[in-house]
Amino acid sequence: MRKKTQLIHGGITGDEKTGAVSVPIYQVSTYAQDGVGQHRGYEYSRTGNPTRFALEELIKELEGGHRGFAFGSGMAAITAVLMTFNHGDHVIFTDDVYGGTYRLVSKVINRFGLEASFVDTSDRKNIEAAITEKTKAIFVETPTNPLLKITDLKEVSLLAEKHDLTFVVDNTFSTPYWQNPIDLGADIVVHSATKYLGGHSDVVAGLVVVNSEQLAEDVHFVLNSSGGILGPQDSWLLMRGIKTLGIRMEEIEANTRNFVEFLTSLPEVSNIYYPGLEEHKGSEVHQKQARGNGGMISFDVGSGEKADQVLRNVRYFTLAESLGAVESLISVPAMMTHASIPKERRADLGITDGLVRVSIGLEDIEDLKEDFLQALRK
Ligand SMILES: *Cc1c(COP(=O)(O)O)cnc(C)c1O
Repeated sequence: MRKKTQLIHGGITGDEKTGAVSVPIYQVSTYAQDGVGQHRGYEYSRTGNPTRFALEELIKELEGGHRGFAFGSGMAAITAVLMTFNHGDHVIFTDDVYGGTYRLVSKVINRFGLEASFVDTSDRKNIEAAITEKTKAIFVETPTNPLLKITDLKEVSLLAEKHDLTFVVDNTFSTPYWQNPIDLGADIVVHSATKYLGGHSDVVAGLVVVNSEQLAEDVHFVLNSSGGILGPQDSWLLMRGIKTLGIRMEEIEANTRNFVEFLTSLPEVSNIYYPGLEEHKGSEVHQKQARGNGGMISFDVGSGEKADQVLRNVRYFTLAESLGAVESLISVPAMMTHASIPKERRADLGITDGLVRVSIGLEDIEDLKEDFLQALRK
């Protein structure tokens, strides 16, 4: 089954009993048992719920894994994965992982004795240098936020295999439509489904896909023990969003390419970060491991004042955190998502005050270009 068909026909579709073509929303907490210990697959909705299960089957198939799990947010999903490790274990992370992941690891999970290193995973040597006897996993994001740095998934998976480490990939930016880390050797894929998978800025959710029965048991044990599950209504809404993922990603791809070309022609704009540009560092690796470039672009408009001017004057770009929605979003990482990082460290990372990040949506691209230009030249 090809991807666009799988988005519609994958997982569990409809309801056998009634012929309903959409999976019913099982708004239920508990299930009648036929006898003590004799149930029909469901006992209690924290452990399992048929609507959530339909979503879990769908994401499992889309990522080509062994089993899927749905959580109440991307952070709940990442928390559950990290809770499968033990006190004293060490995990290596991409240095510019999502800010929420950094906060979770450095301010919450660390209190339970999980040790972490943050390195530039776009160079395998940095990962190798960080591996110790205690290292149990490598956690990678590619492309990253906001500079779209690329890590070679195949190369890291071989390294993980060699050292017997669990390889975890946050695949939020590429989505399973463009990139499938398990095919490249990853053991666990996580998603903030709040972004492209949901796609309509109306649901917060997280997904995990694992590639083995052992990992499935480990993650389900934490899910059932800690309870950060996704409810049936949101599970349904997410499946509804995923049905159009293919057509949205194709259109976003075309819009984004068009917008990047337009940015290239503007003298006010420099340092365009987009994995679809040949001169982008890591572009070659990205083209090898992904089928599309996504809708995220970062670029420099020269100064914090200019960035502020643009953000104040755009009409079709919504000034907001988050990404991957039908509406185009715009933000200034130095003043928003990355404000807590000291200015010098930001400068080292390349996150200048004039760096603007956009998430291209589904508006008519001519409107987006006109809108951006009038805001830039006001
Ligand atoms: C948003 C995001 C998360 C966190 O997901 P939530 O659904 O907001 O909890 C994790 N990773 C990446 C790459 C993200 O963009």
